[in-house]
Amino acid sequence: MGGASVYSERIARARDAARAAGTGALVIAPGADLRYLVGGAVGSHERFTGLVLPVDGDPVLVVPKLEAPGYDRLDLPGLGVRTATWVDGEDPHALVARHVGAVEAVALGDMLPAVHVLGLRAALPGVEQRLAGPVLRELRMRKDAHEVEQLRAAGAAIDRVHARMGEWLRVGRTEAEVAADIRVAIVAEGHAEVGFAIVGSGPNGASPHHDVSDRVIAAGDVVVVDIGGALPSGYCSDSTRTYSLGAPADDDVPATYETLRAAQAAAVAAVRPGATAESIDAAARDVLVAAKLGELFIHRTGHGIGIEGHEHPYIVAGNDLRVAEGMAFSIEPGVYLPGRWGARIEDIVVVTDNGVESVNLRPHELVELPA
Ligand code: ZN
Ligand code: ZN
Ligand code: ZN
Repeated sequence: MGGASVYSERIARARDAARAAGTGALVIAPGADLRYLVGGAVGSHERFTGLVLPVDGDPVLVVPKLEAPGYDRLDLPGLGVRTATWVDGEDPHALVARHVGAVEAVALGDMLPAVHVLGLRAALPGVEQRLAGPVLRELRMRKDAHEVEQLRAAGAAIDRVHARMGEWLRVGRTEAEVAADIRVAIVAEGHAEVGFAIVGSGPNGASPHHDVSDRVIAAGDVVVVDIGGALPSGYCSDSTRTYSLGAPADDDVPATYETLRAAQAAAVAAVRPGATAESIDAAARDVLVAAKLGELFIHRTGHGIGIEGHEHPYIVAGNDLRVAEGMAFSIEPGVYLPGRWGARIEDIVVVTDNGVESVNLRPHELVELPA
């Protein structure tokens, strides 16, 4: 990431957003929100760890003494974050309450375990508890230039894996065998970790979140391959392409796939600053509905992506959020014909100052591999 100044600026913006929301302090547990604010996080199991960020006062990381060394590499003092340690037998919630100070409302990170939510309820009687998600979401959705650069690098890395698909996706192999090779390639092409490698062949392609199975891939199969991982920086890739082994066995594949391709393109074309998330979803859906294929598209059009594989904004009916420069999300309509076949086309796009940029650049056609 871009050094300490990036994080001190994020902490300052989070504090401003909390103040604007009328919240006296944020309490953020290890997870993506904490990584976003300080550059890393160490899991603390049942013991309490959390960043306490009062609107008036210095940020403090409350951490078990035995886990404090895990934060040494982050240069917390350089970010203006003090550390307050506790040992087994002490009450960490009382320690948090001391650093929160006298406030009317405290916003807790969305993933703070219930045991700590209730512990803080007891330690801060009369203080309203809220979710911190709405405050942090506003920050995390708008990627800065460095983050967009990381998403581009992630997109290029997963594109390189799709480009090599013919090495592994062959008739006579199982989905699981193909996925194992893809997982190796995801790391070889620059990711630090594999997120997922979905290989849905034939009827399995009709299940959007099918993982892998021992089904043997046959000539004429249509195969959905949805893959992603995280770069060393933590930024994620996620891209789907649909392949066929020789000419597709089902004769409705070419026309249906072409409609899907038009739907995906229509949604990308609808992305620009000020467009609502639901209008982008509708742009894809309308194309399929007009072709009487609407019932085959059984999920939202997309999800945000960044240091988490799924985050805000969600590109879904009912979300009237207006997308803005720096927001990054998937455009991934699919068609699913139960018991027969399925297809999906997924790119990650970033909203620019006047339109859209795709970080995935592989062709959108059904990719025919040798049978
Ligand atoms: Zn998903
Ligand atoms: Zn995907
Ligand atoms: Zn996705």
